[in-house]
Amino acid sequence: MEVFRFFRQQLFSWHTGHQRPLPWKGERDPYKVWLSEIILQQTRVEQGLPYYERFTATYPTVRRLAEAPLDEVLKLWEGLGYYSRARNMHATARHIAGELHGIFPDTYAGIRALPGVGDYTAAAIASFAFGLPHAVLDGNVYRVLARFFGIETPVDTPAAKREFQALAQQLLDPGRPGAYNQAIMDFGAGHCTPRQPACSTCPLVERCVALRTGAVQRLPTKNRAAAKQQRFFVYAVFYQGKNVWVRKRDAADIWRNLYEFPLLELPKAPTDPSALPQLLLNHFFSVGHPAGIALRRVSKPYRQTLSHRIVTAIFCEFDLDENSESLVFQKNTPSDWQLVEQIYFKKILAVPRIVEWFWNERP
Ligand code: SF4
Repeated sequence: MEVFRFFRQQLFSWHTGHQRPLPWKGERDPYKVWLSEIILQQTRVEQGLPYYERFTATYPTVRRLAEAPLDEVLKLWEGLGYYSRARNMHATARHIAGELHGIFPDTYAGIRALPGVGDYTAAAIASFAFGLPHAVLDGNVYRVLARFFGIETPVDTPAAKREFQALAQQLLDPGRPGAYNQAIMDFGAGHCTPRQPACSTCPLVERCVALRTGAVQRLPTKNRAAAKQQRFFVYAVFYQGKNVWVRKRDAADIWRNLYEFPLLELPKAPTDPSALPQLLLNHFFSVGHPAGIALRRVSKPYRQTLSHRIVTAIFCEFDLDENSESLVFQKNTPSDWQLVEQIYFKKILAVPRIVEWFWNERP
């Protein structure tokens, strides 16, 4: 189709003058392409770049990543958020090193079958590393296609996925699938941007439907986003001499395998933060206020926004007498609590960002 040819040609010529040199561009090692794609999911390039460099330097092969302890991988990942990516990445590396004998799958179906790899990542790896004709569909591609072709289908629906995927596949240059995929994503990220697309200098301007119909700012459309779930955490930070009590999150929930302090989750926002220390003591100990424990401070509320949740956390700091260990193991104090050195806590263990923020701001 003539318009498809126009789109491809203009895109490639734009890309020739706007290539951004990044270490994973042009990379053919599927392990490194995969690593970059996992790191860049829901992450800005500037933020992901040092992590990519750190991971490829520390674990230059999939086997090296597979051999690393999970805690070490999570520590290297710290600050990037969405920790399930790191856990999946590590599990996948072990799967490739073990079941697949260290050989990365070289077909779309094989790549797509890897844990933690969705349609987008599979298409990216297949096209970049193996030159296979699979079109990527990410937020940038949705935006460019919705605007250029004037597509009104809300992009957060299954119907849109089918419609845009079929269109993206038709537009793909089968002779240069990797270069085409890179070009359209770079164009969406650098030119046809969400808020300030550079329409006046756009190589697609003469055929862009959204520009002609005044729909640039409105497209792509979305169904109303679901409200984020609010969660309220109250942490008990028990200091004991040079140590602090911590636990590892192990439930199938946010921040699994990260370390935090003993936690009481509330069903709604606390109305009186000054009552929280007593609430924690009542929860963790069988006597209302055991001897050998003194309140040090109640923190300000910290708030972290995740993809589907907003977590508000307040930290109540207590000092425990050196010999009050027996007090801790009462009532709701599971055996997974560990006493670790305060210096060791933040330096070695991977913790959620909200815990890190609190820890770094302590007086
Ligand atoms: S003319 Fe504007 S809206 Fe259309 S593709 Fe170009 S930058 Fe995007």
